[in-house]
Amino acid sequence: MATGFFWAEETFWHSGGNYALTLPVGGLVQPLVAGGLPEGPETKRRFRNLLDVTGLSKDLVMSGADYVTWDDLLRVHPESYLTEFKSASDAGGGELGLRTPFGPGAFEIASRSAGLAKAAVAAVAKGELDNAYALCRPPGHHCLPDWPNGFCLLNNIAIAIEAAQAEGDIPRVAVLDWDVHHGNGTEAVYYERSDVLTISLHQEKNYPLDTGDVEDRGRGEGLGANINVPLPPGMGHAGYLLAMEEIVLPALRAFNPDMIVVACGFDAAAFDPLSRMMATAETFAAMTRQIMTLADEFCDGRVVCVHEGGYSEAYVPFCGHAVMTELAQSDISAPDPMEATLRVRQPNARLQDFHAELIREMAETFKNPPPKG
Ligand code: ZN
Repeated sequence: MATGFFWAEETFWHSGGNYALTLPVGGLVQPLVAGGLPEGPETKRRFRNLLDVTGLSKDLVMSGADYVTWDDLLRVHPESYLTEFKSASDAGGGELGLRTPFGPGAFEIASRSAGLAKAAVAAVAKGELDNAYALCRPPGHHCLPDWPNGFCLLNNIAIAIEAAQAEGDIPRVAVLDWDVHHGNGTEAVYYERSDVLTISLHQEKNYPLDTGDVEDRGRGEGLGANINVPLPPGMGHAGYLLAMEEIVLPALRAFNPDMIVVACGFDAAAFDPLSRMMATAETFAAMTRQIMTLADEFCDGRVVCVHEGGYSEAYVPFCGHAVMTELAQSDISAPDPMEATLRVRQPNARLQDFHAELIREMAETFKNPPPKG
């Protein structure tokens, strides 16, 4: 059993155009801890550090990755957007789209981030690793082909899948996005395709405000291959697992993928500043187990998790470690320091009736073929 962990220090240096003292960041000047946006390097760096401190990283295949190539990028993004992004990045930074400020060198950093996802997917697709985690930064799941938004500058997952498919690997891929925000970018890339199933579990009307509805089920060839599961605030551990059992796992079984890629955000966690969903580290561990069991049955265990959001610097490392413990089937864990508190606040058995009812209603909807048009 070999589990990969792909990361690069360079990605932690992505900035919103900050300065270090009076020095413009870029080149060899490392940014200070970013102010302003919640998306910063510490959530990721602390996650990686925790793997070292517990010793789990010794049991993982720790790897870097090359930049993705221009051809890799062109499979997902139009040349006009790439040229505009590269020019602004070379000129010292700027902002394109919505909530995606970037500093100098962001094009290369984002290309490295996508490279981590590409390398992880390729290694698992070719059987060099059983499964893998790519610690990408900047994240990718909001990025549309020609419109960056929500801290995402390149669609890492789509770039990775397209590169593997160009090699003739993994013809059918399922993307499960459990980041608390709707995976609008990945949905946009694959909305009219039947070979890539996209499923997004997200807090309803969080971000973006106007996407991610149950009715949005794909178009043309892709009709039925896009599933949105908008969840009301407070869903909690038991609600997430029920949504997985009732909606996600049946959809994955019916699709019969060659690989499952998880858009792995930890911002549904109870301590996240950007959501109100009450998931815990054990929620992410349990969902990982569910996916791994299914992947063993359908696709030789091929699972790749690609890091997306998650904004609690204190708690993200424990959620991330919980996923890694599962992927590596390891005895090394990082016990959740908030577990006792969370158990009192939401006993696992106490799934609210209206939450369960809503999930079962949605599950019924997905059993019917989507209306044409
Ligand atoms: Zn998110």
